[in-house]
Amino acid sequence: MKILCAVKRVVDYNVKIRVKTDQSGVETSNVKFSMNPFDEIAVEEAVRLKEAGKATEIVVVSIGPAQAQETLRTALAMGADRAILVQTDMETQPLAVAKLLKALVEKEAPGMVILGKQAIDDDCNQTGQMLAALLGWGQGTFASKIVAGDGAVAVTREIDGGLETVELKLPAVVTADLRLNEPRYASLPNIMKAKKKPLETITPDALGVDVTPRLKTVKVAEPAKRQAGIKVPDIATLVDKLKNEARVI
Ligand code: AMP
Repeated sequence: MKILCAVKRVVDYNVKIRVKTDQSGVETSNVKFSMNPFDEIAVEEAVRLKEAGKATEIVVVSIGPAQAQETLRTALAMGADRAILVQTDMETQPLAVAKLLKALVEKEAPGMVILGKQAIDDDCNQTGQMLAALLGWGQGTFASKIVAGDGAVAVTREIDGGLETVELKLPAVVTADLRLNEPRYASLPNIMKAKKKPLETITPDALGVDVTPRLKTVKVAEPAKRQAGIKVPDIATLVDKLKNEARVI
C-alpha cells in the first residue's frame, strides 16, 4: 500500500506571533518556519506503518512556496521515499489544498492519505474532511491510534469525553491528532540521504486546479491584553473585591 502524506510549511510553533501593523495578517518576514506539528505526526505514522510492513511507499506532498522544499526534505529525512511540491506563492486555503490533493490521489492511487488534523497557522481543521468528501472516501479524523488490516483500517478517534474506534474500508483519509505518536528526530545520516531522494515540483495549473483564495481576511487583531493579577491581604478583601469590583458574587 502506498501512503500519501500532506505536510504544510507553517510559522514555527515556538515563534511569538506578531500581527502586522496594517492588521492584514501576521508578520512572516525573518520568522522561523517548520513543518506543521500535526503533519510531523502524520509522517511518523506513515513511516511506522512502512516499518511494520503495512506500507510499501510514502509520498509526501506540500503546497506552497519554493521554501516548502525544506519541509519536504525534513519529511524525507524522517523516512518518506519521495516528495512532490505543488508550488504556489498564493495563500493556500483548505478547499484548494483538498482539490490539489484529490488530483494527486488520482495520479498516485494511494491506499491511504494521512494529514494533520489541523494546520497551526490557519487553525482551519477542514482539509482532510474536504478531501474525503471530494474523493467519496471514508474518513477517520483526530486519530490517536491506527491499526492497518487487510483492505481496512481501524482508527481510534479522540472525541469529546472519550475515544471512538471506526473501521474504514481502504482507500481512506486519516487525520493525525497529538497522541497518535511522538515523531522521531531525523538523524544526520538520514538528513544527508534525504538530499538525494526524488523531489518533483509541479504547478497547480498542471493539476487543473484554480487556487485563487475564496475567503478574504478582513482583519487580524491581537487578543485583548490581560491585566496583571494582584495579591489580597485577607479573605474579607477578596470577598469585597469579588462583590464590588469584579461584581461576580
Ligand atoms: P487545515 O485544514 O488548514 O487546518 O489543515 C489540515 C491539514 O491539511 C494539515 O495538517 C496538512 O496535513 C494539510 N494541509 C493544509 N494545507 C496544506 C498545504 N498548503 N500543503 C500541504 N498540506 C496541507
